[in-house]
Amino acid sequence: MVVGAGITGASIAHHLARRGVSVVVIEQSPRSGAGATGSSGGMVRAYDPDTASGELALPSLAAYRDPARWASGQAPLHAVGAVTAAHPDQAASFREAAGQINAALHTSAHVVAERDEVAGIRLAGGVALVEPEAGWVAPAEVTEDWLVQARADGAVVCHGVRVHGVEARGGRPAVLTDAGVISAGSVIAAVGPWAADPVPGLRPASPVRSRSIQVSVVERRPPAVSHATFVDLRTGVYAKPVGSDRTLIGMPHLVWDSPFDSPPDPAHERATVSALTTHFPWLTTAVQLSTVRAADAYGSPGGEQASGLLEGTGVPHVWSVRGWNGGGVKTAPEAGRRIAEACVADAFSDVA
Ligand SMILES: Cc1cc2nc3c(=O)[nH]c(=O)nc-3n(C[C@H](O)[C@H](O)[C@H](O)COP(=O)(O)OP(=O)(O)OC[C@H]3O[C@@H](n4cnc5c(N)ncnc54)[C@H](O)[C@@H]3O)c2cc1C
Repeated sequence: MVVGAGITGASIAHHLARRGVSVVVIEQSPRSGAGATGSSGGMVRAYDPDTASGELALPSLAAYRDPARWASGQAPLHAVGAVTAAHPDQAASFREAAGQINAALHTSAHVVAERDEVAGIRLAGGVALVEPEAGWVAPAEVTEDWLVQARADGAVVCHGVRVHGVEARGGRPAVLTDAGVISAGSVIAAVGPWAADPVPGLRPASPVRSRSIQVSVVERRPPAVSHATFVDLRTGVYAKPVGSDRTLIGMPHLVWDSPFDSPPDPAHERATVSALTTHFPWLTTAVQLSTVRAADAYGSPGGEQASGLLEGTGVPHVWSVRGWNGGGVKTAPEAGRRIAEACVADAFSDVA
């Protein structure tokens, strides 16, 4: 059983069902992607300064580029390019990363230094790793596509059913839900920020906390030019195009453990515009259209299974996936594949 039909649970369910495992997905909301996934900007690139995340992000980008992997028959990637900026002393490590990415994906990643601007983004003295073949995906659409594939492979997806707890009964998990008790061979909790305050039986061994993420969408009118997706490792600010005339902007919102549905923070909204103006000067006069506040689970990789992707919970055969630290979309294809592989190879080949 997979608890949670966000992008992580959907990827796991798809990969399990494709391997012939009998899978049930339980989602508390009436629809899929109602948690972090539904609010996500969906920026994806192969590079990540965290090595563990980079190892997942690179093959994940390959999956997002490959039409053959999707029920829709179309690759979900919008390849607008991805720019990662950093302090100039990162140039050598960026060059090494570009070489690795190109060798694995046959792409044209490269480093730009001592330039004012690249792909519509001012670098403000930084050096940039440019991945022209990366960009963004629509996370809810990716989630839905994986669930379509999982159902076609025999999985059952239940919406509007909440898991209240999980207990060990006869050596196997008994899952307590709104719809009654369900016996499972194994349970994987992919509950996103809800892992920070889990139901009994789903508490991961290492602490996970939820952290606020707030983004705004602004109008982008000429003479503002189109641009690639952008992350600045010096400050944490980020941006991505939304269609032809809008841009999503964000910067770290260091508010921990607030409710998932907390209202947007107007002071942070203003600070975000101000911080991004260095990179997009046209923001000073841009009309602000909307602001969304959600959250993601934050924790460190280090779990017991699948190279740190799964944590035990204390209940036999019940596992919790790691927190994605605000980057779970760019790693979901490969994370789901590895978790499913670990499930099949491990003691729970009879996952239900
Ligand atoms: C505003 C924003 C922007 C982001 N931008 C990016 C980005 O550009 N690139 C990137 O890679 N990542 C980004 N992220 C992070 C990324 O979206 C998340 O890491 C990812 O969506 C997490 O997916 P998930 O499936 O683990 O969690 P979720 O999507 O939160 O899914 C968890 C699901 O579990 C369900 N659930 C919880 N408890 C229970 C229960 N007891 N019973 C049944 N169901 C339950 C919830 O209803 C929910 O649907 C962003 C996140 C946010 C919020």
